[in-house]
Amino acid sequence: MCGIVGYIGNAQCFPILIKGLHRLEYRGYDSAGVAILNDNNQLNIYKSRGKVEDLEHFCESKDVEGTIGIAHTRWATHGEPNDVNAHPHCSSHGDLALVHNGTIENYNVLKKALIEHGCEFKSETDTEVLVQLIEYIKENNKCTLIEAVTEALEQVVGAYAIAVIDRNTPDTIIAARKSSPLVIGIGDDATYLASDATPIIDYTDKVVYLNDDEIAIIKKGEPLQVINADKEPSNIDIKTLKLSVSQLEKGGYPHFMLKEIYEQVMTLEDCIRGRVYNNSIVLSGVNENSEAFKSAHRIIIVACGTSWHAGLIGKRLIQDIARVPVEVEYASEFRYSNPVITPNDIVIAISQSGETADTLAAISLAKEKGAFVYGVCNVVGSSIARATDSGTYIHVGPEIGVASTKAFTGQVTVLAMLALAIGQLRGTVSTDTLVRTTSAIEMLPALIKETLKLDKDIEKLSRTYTYVHNFLYLGRGYNFPSALEGALKLKEISYIHAEGYPAAEMKHGPIALIDHELPTVVIAPMDDLHDKIISNIRQVKARGGSVIAIVNKGDKTIKSIADFTLEIPAVPECLSPIIASIPLQLLAYHIAVKKGCNVDMPRNLAKSVTVE
Ligand code: GLU
Repeated sequence: MCGIVGYIGNAQCFPILIKGLHRLEYRGYDSAGVAILNDNNQLNIYKSRGKVEDLEHFCESKDVEGTIGIAHTRWATHGEPNDVNAHPHCSSHGDLALVHNGTIENYNVLKKALIEHGCEFKSETDTEVLVQLIEYIKENNKCTLIEAVTEALEQVVGAYAIAVIDRNTPDTIIAARKSSPLVIGIGDDATYLASDATPIIDYTDKVVYLNDDEIAIIKKGEPLQVINADKEPSNIDIKTLKLSVSQLEKGGYPHFMLKEIYEQVMTLEDCIRGRVYNNSIVLSGVNENSEAFKSAHRIIIVACGTSWHAGLIGKRLIQDIARVPVEVEYASEFRYSNPVITPNDIVIAISQSGETADTLAAISLAKEKGAFVYGVCNVVGSSIARATDSGTYIHVGPEIGVASTKAFTGQVTVLAMLALAIGQLRGTVSTDTLVRTTSAIEMLPALIKETLKLDKDIEKLSRTYTYVHNFLYLGRGYNFPSALEGALKLKEISYIHAEGYPAAEMKHGPIALIDHELPTVVIAPMDDLHDKIISNIRQVKARGGSVIAIVNKGDKTIKSIADFTLEIPAVPECLSPIIASIPLQLLAYHIAVKKGCNVDMPRNLAKSVTVE
């Protein structure tokens, strides 16, 4: 989390930094700040609690002149979100400014030692320790900035992407990364850096993704230099971005979240394109590694948040279709659980951003133990995409709204195709299933378009539930994870407490909560367990609860019992979570908007979780 931007060139940097921070605001919005070196070698640092627009107002009457600068939008990990803890942090003698994304785990030990050496700290952050350490090393060893940064980073335990500027070398930015992302943009007469490529795309499509333990020396008017952990020059691999500015704008929608909900018609087309062919699935990542997929004894899916919900659906898909045992783990638990992993296992890592710190750590562990690691990511060139042996991109375009929508449907669609591709290789999928499922996958964009017509009804329905304090979401089989995801969507953007539960488990506890004040959303498409879920709905109604049911068109039985029904088109059961997620997303969206919540930037959250 946290977004970093940097610029060095001939143009005024302030507007470039601010625009970049706006693009990265999805990563955190506790505070924002800039540090600019002007032509008189003056280092001006401005920081403000709150969003980037608060910083802009704060800077209105300030001197922001200068052509070298770094900037930051924060998601606090160490120290509360206030002006003092905001980045950039400045060294004691006022020469250095530094921005940081990540966490320094041994900051307390380093801080104590620096205090003993006379350093004075202003903030509670781990980041300030790093900038003080660099200054201390630089002055004590009488060395250059790059030497001081290199030595400081050798003493640091943790994760970081950093950018540093120094009043004494006003033509240079030093940047480095370990476990947190950093991209460098190569312009004609300027160099840019950022946590992802979105602040860079307006100026250049040529980028270099910094690798772990690399340090970049960015000098005005000189080619980029990168050194690795052995202090040797690294090979500079310039990539061309395939991203367009229009993908990063709201395009007439009031919120990115709503835009992204509507975009799913198109994003699923992109996700499927070239992968369904003649009623079979062609995934190059699977075909190129057919032996690994044929011989795997087990698949372990690791993910966090919404991706973990997609992983639960993936488990059902792969087990049903490819008949391989699958386990699904929270990456944050898995990495510390001393897991049994063998070279016969395949680990599938799911992450929209491809930067999720816990998932990256789980991947390293899996690789150490010899497993084949497959990635399901959205962001091309992301750390997970590069750390895995192979993978499939979901290709849904940049997701800016903090609550994931189009990435979730893209992930489930890729997992459905993956299950079929593995099933094809292992000979476990019948022609009938293949034909039925691939045809339905091709129909998904059109069916989502049809489902989006529920928007107006859901908007009306949301008025009834704006001031409710709790919600229950129930589903069975493939749609138990849909219930979890529906509840997560609602709580993250509307701050209403919501719980997802397997419908039949309700009677073992949550049924005690049901009264006329607790609405229950039931995901009940026409599947093998349809009769069972009707009984579950009756159990809720018998206790005075109100029920919003998501059903297939023409489901008269549930229509006669539930308070409200939202009708979605029928698809094979294994794809039903994709269609069911549309009304769940819209319901959460409209309730949150009615409550006056900032749906694109919900409190305390950030999108790309690059810290533990
Ligand atoms: N640890 C730093 C802070 O608390 C950066 C946090 C982050 O990257 O999320 O300010």
